[in-house]
Amino acid sequence: MIIFKHANQLQQYLTAKAQNGPSIGFVPTMGALHSGHISLITAAKQTCDIVVSSVFVNPTQFNDPKDFEKYPVTIDQDVNKLEAAACDVLFLPSVIEMYPNGLRSYKHYDLGYLETILDGAYRPGHFQGVCQVVERLLEIVQPNRLFLGQKDYQQCLVLSKLIELMKINTQITIVPTQRETDGLAMSSRNLRLSPSAREKAPVIYQTLQWIKASIKAGDISLLKQQATDKLVNAGFKADYVELADASTLQLINKWDGQSKLVALTAAFIDDVRLIDNLLV
Ligand code: AMP
Repeated sequence: MIIFKHANQLQQYLTAKAQNGPSIGFVPTMGALHSGHISLITAAKQTCDIVVSSVFVNPTQFNDPKDFEKYPVTIDQDVNKLEAAACDVLFLPSVIEMYPNGLRSYKHYDLGYLETILDGAYRPGHFQGVCQVVERLLEIVQPNRLFLGQKDYQQCLVLSKLIELMKINTQITIVPTQRETDGLAMSSRNLRLSPSAREKAPVIYQTLQWIKASIKAGDISLLKQQATDKLVNAGFKADYVELADASTLQLINKWDGQSKLVALTAAFIDDVRLIDNLLV
C-alpha cells in the first residue's frame, strides 16, 4: 500500500495510473478502523481496479468540540488493517492539506429537507462539514465509485445530494452495517464505551428490531414513543427514534403498510452518542 500525505502527489499518482482506464474505488474514513470500514474496502476491491482509502478526522463536521478531542486515533493499527485488506492507496492528509484556506468555509451546500431532520437537526452544521471534506476528497481522488456504510444512512443521502450538486459521475455503493455478535453496530466511538455502557449498548439494535417486528399499518406515534421509552429505561438519553421513507427520509407518523421504511435512532449512553438504523 502506498501512503500519500499530500494531495498533489496523490493526484499525480492517480492521474498517471488512470491513463490506462482502470476504475478507482474510494473509501473515506475518520480512522480507528474496524471490520465495518474493512467491509467497504472489500466491496471496493471486488468492483474496482484501484482502491483508495483516506483517514482524516475532519474537524469541521464535529458540532461538539469535546467529541472531536476524544475521537479515537489508532493510525498504526489502521495502516496494518488496510494493508491486510489489500487496500492500494492510503491518503493521510493534515488539516492544512485539506483546508489550505483555513477551517472557516463560507460555501454553503443546499441540502434542503435532508439537513432539517434527524442528525441534521441535532448536529447543526455537521452535514455542511461532511460535504466540505468529501467535496475536497472527491476533487482530489476523482473516483468512479464511492463506498459508504449504511450505518450512516442519512449521510449516504446527503453525499448522494452532494454528488448531484457537484455534477460529477461518481457512483455510490452502500455497504450493509457490520455488527458485533450481540448486534451493536460497529463504530469507532464504541472504543469510548465504559464496560457497563458497552453491556447496555446492544439495546439500540434490539429496539430497532422490536420496531420492525411490531410495526403495523396506521398511526405509528405510539410505537415511536414506546421505542424511545425502551431506550430511556435502559439508561440512554435518546435524541430521536424515527421512522422515515427509506428513499427520501421523509419522516412519517402514519404508515400505509406498503412503502419501504427505515427506522433510525441516535442516543447517548454516558457521553457517547451512538447511531443506528434498520430497514423495515
Ligand atoms: P467513519 O470513519 O465513521 O467516518 O466511517 C467511514 C465509513 O465507514 C462511512 O461510510 C461509514 O458509514 C462506514 N461505516 C462505519 N461503521 C460501519 C459499520 N458498522 N458497517 C459498515 N460501514 C460502516
